Amino acid sequence: MLEISIDDRLPQKPITTVQELCEKIRAYHPNAPIEIVQRAYTFSEKYHEGQMRRSGEPYISHPLNVAGILADLRLDIDTIVTGLLHDTVEDTLATLDDVKREFGDTVAALVDGVTKIGQMNFRNSFEKQGENIRKMIIAMGKDVRVVLVKLADRLHNMRTLNHMPYEKQVRIAEETLEIYCALAGRIGISSLKVELEDLAFRYSRPDKFYELVQVIKKNENETEKYIGEVRKSVSDLITKTNIKTFKIYGRSKHLWSIYRKMTSRNLSYDQIYDVLAFRILVGSITECYEMLGYIHSIWKPIPGRFKDFIAMPKSNNYRSLHTTVIGPGGDRIEIQIRTEEMHLIAEKGIAAHWNYKERGKLKVDELMQTNWMRELVSLNQQGGAADEFLDKIKTGLVENEVYVFTPKGDVVELPDGATPVDLAYMIHTNLGNMCTGARVNGKMVPLKHKLSNGDRVEIVTLKTQTPSKDWLKFVVTNKAISKIRQFVKEEQRKNSIVMGKEIVEKEFRKFGMAAVKYLKGPEFEKYMSESGIGDVEELYARVGYGKFEAKHLIDNLSPEAIQKDAEKDETSTFMEKVIRSAKAKLKKSNSLVSVDGMDDVLVHFAKCCGPIPGDPITGFISRGKGIIIHRSDCQKVFENDQMRRVDVAWTSKTASAGQERLVRLEVIGQDVPGLLKLMSESFAVQGINIESAQIRTTRDKKAICQFEIAVRDIAQLSAAILALQKIKGIIDVQRVMG
Ligand code: MN
Repeated sequence: MLEISIDDRLPQKPITTVQELCEKIRAYHPNAPIEIVQRAYTFSEKYHEGQMRRSGEPYISHPLNVAGILADLRLDIDTIVTGLLHDTVEDTLATLDDVKREFGDTVAALVDGVTKIGQMNFRNSFEKQGENIRKMIIAMGKDVRVVLVKLADRLHNMRTLNHMPYEKQVRIAEETLEIYCALAGRIGISSLKVELEDLAFRYSRPDKFYELVQVIKKNENETEKYIGEVRKSVSDLITKTNIKTFKIYGRSKHLWSIYRKMTSRNLSYDQIYDVLAFRILVGSITECYEMLGYIHSIWKPIPGRFKDFIAMPKSNNYRSLHTTVIGPGGDRIEIQIRTEEMHLIAEKGIAAHWNYKERGKLKVDELMQTNWMRELVSLNQQGGAADEFLDKIKTGLVENEVYVFTPKGDVVELPDGATPVDLAYMIHTNLGNMCTGARVNGKMVPLKHKLSNGDRVEIVTLKTQTPSKDWLKFVVTNKAISKIRQFVKEEQRKNSIVMGKEIVEKEFRKFGMAAVKYLKGPEFEKYMSESGIGDVEELYARVGYGKFEAKHLIDNLSPEAIQKDAEKDETSTFMEKVIRSAKAKLKKSNSLVSVDGMDDVLVHFAKCCGPIPGDPITGFISRGKGIIIHRSDCQKVFENDQMRRVDVAWTSKTASAGQERLVRLEVIGQDVPGLLKLMSESFAVQGINIESAQIRTTRDKKAICQFEIAVRDIAQLSAAILALQKIKGIIDVQRVMG
């Protein structure tokens, strides 16, 4: 038996009544609960009443034909009902709750998914194809039928695109090529893909399309004749074999694929050899390979063009043998050999897998085993990320993540428990900072509201709004947490600066002084750099945080104020105040010197004169360093403000190791060899370290040596000087200042 025509295309004739739709369904599903279809039609018709398509037809013609396309794909009743209802929630007064009440949770979820895809923003889609497809997967959630309805919706819109204005035609056609054709191909429904591609070709590049149509028409007779020739050759051959039943058909490849071939190889139509495609259907896999053998016995195969998708199916489960041979007249022809079952899967894709007894069970979990989903996902995700995303889908999308929609239709992925604040920060820091509330699916919610999968979320902002520390109690994303913390910290700093400034000014006022006068100039800068404070703001901030006492500022910048203060204060003496203030600041005391009889006060030794225990000393209250000890004969003692002078004395304690003081000595001697060696030996005997030594010689043959030595006290120094003076050749030994 030989049959030579199979129409593998979907019927393109529009249907006009629900009866026609029901007939289509009964043809493949005799026991289908048709009354639900009737009811859905009535519901849709009622809500769309008064709406018109651009063609002038009532709007219901669109959902009816979308349902028709789904029936042509032999899909289940829920899917067809969804086809009828797919625009009701988006375009009419019907709510999702209405749909749920009338048609149940499954249909409502499907309608919701289709509505969400409709609200997505596919602009810039060319660069973001993967992202767009990922959005679709998210929108369809666990149920792939959402995408099937969307594809049927797009197909019907493409079939009726001639009613649209030109610019819209081009835009919609481009979008179809970029997203929907790719998606149909990935899912493996070639009948949808082929028709969408040719329609999109026609509207996106009309001049090229009609040019090609002309060429093909011109060659039509020749093509028909050629196809007949091939069919006859194959039939003649096969009737002599044990293959009893087979079907063969041939035709031009679809226009978009020819056009693509022409443009990618820069060829004219005449130059393209494999424009014709033949398909041979046989009864079994064994017969596929047998048939291939017979074909190759009459026509020479072209090396490298044979592909075995039966042994190695494509990721979308496509199975077939492909070969290209030199056919009659020396033309190349492509031949595909497959079984009926493989053909059904190729044309109708997952729709062909449908098990009507378990309808509605075709879910993501199941599809995972069919590989195409993996492919679909990996479009966007490379490497490990793809597996991760896949895992998320496998575990049910909703487990650890929620996907929400922005008003623009973008999908944002958030961790479970995320709030509108998390979403706002995810979109933009400023949006987060100004967030005062949110509308979720049209209803106002508080900021701590937990978002659910598929929520449509609109962030409400107020320019005067600022983030609050309380937000940290409910946000879950790292971005929100860190941005809020950052803001709060910055805010605290600002407050501290204001507060610190107030404290400082108040403190100065207490002494009848204006802070501004003291918080500038070289003395202030010096104080700041010594204290390691960057600028005035930091100073205020530290005071505001309580890390730094304002009083300390005054102690150091204006000691005379303290004196005045002390004079007013009868309960404490000036010295007590100074000491208390010095004590407050200084942690370690130097017990070598007592100040006004107290020996736990930290003092500094002036560098100019370098006093050592035993030297007569005088102390001065310094700005920022507590008390500075000078030798009483130091020039500075007379220069300093005598008001700041304090009584100091060496304590009876002996300087311990590490407490030695540096002293400078100038030694003048004869410039003779070995003198330096003798001097250093002399220091060593006394147990004195030489910290530095400089020697120069004069014209009159004298050596002038500068030593810096570490000594315990004046007794040790005197002994050292005496020892040096005893060395032969030494003329003079002097302790020098500075
Ligand atoms: Mn629609």
